[in-house]
Amino acid sequence: MNQSERIGAVILAGGRGSRMGSRIQKQYMLLAGRPLICHALEAFEQSQAEDLVLVTGAGEEDYVRKEILASMKLKKLRAVVPGGAERYHSVYEGLKALEGCSHVLIHDGARPLVTGEIIDRAICGAKEYGACVVGMPVKDTIKVADDAGFAAATPDRSHLWQVQTPQAFSYELVRSAYDRVMADETLQTGITDDAMVVETASGAAVRLVEGSYENLKVTTPEDLVLAEALLKRR
Ligand code: C5P
Repeated sequence: MNQSERIGAVILAGGRGSRMGSRIQKQYMLLAGRPLICHALEAFEQSQAEDLVLVTGAGEEDYVRKEILASMKLKKLRAVVPGGAERYHSVYEGLKALEGCSHVLIHDGARPLVTGEIIDRAICGAKEYGACVVGMPVKDTIKVADDAGFAAATPDRSHLWQVQTPQAFSYELVRSAYDRVMADETLQTGITDDAMVVETASGAAVRLVEGSYENLKVTTPEDLVLAEALLKRR
């Protein structure tokens, strides 16, 4: 690896996971015998990324250090930082802890099936294009609904991708885009991913690279069943 290149990764586990409808937060629920968040952390520990930052819910840092990280012996974990109210607040806290990196990956801890190959493709994409997200072409037809619940449009499926994480960027590009968005509330409406922040604040082109249909985000109870089955098959 080029001496001046240093890859960092922000792993997000600061959400409330309210769609899971469970008492215990989804990132700490057991998946294949281990807390869900362990799977993504392990994948990044084995990857080319050198510095990992875990973002937890505010006030959960000690619990996570003691109950989850103590038994994992992660050599690359540099910091555990508290997140914020929205995903983009949490990402910003993670980015600030990775100053000095040349490139950074941002990953939803709720995607436990991420693999080394996917992480490598994201890193290559960030180095080549400055900004990339992993995703897959959609399989279903997608409709745009109007306010009354009727189909208003059917976008051409051949141009539609479902976007996943990791999303990977040159550090400077994503940091300056986040600095701009965090300083201007009018730019914060409807942000759902990091590519959107970069597109909005910098106008940079974001490359789509292949992820995997297995790289699902555990959001609702049936996702946990699917993720468990996919992990068992590996
Ligand atoms: O809510 P959503 O499923 O989009 O969350 C995606 C990821 O972002 C999850 O890993 C979640 O823990 C994280 N997140 C966060 N801080 C928030 C909201 C979500 O770290 N405030």
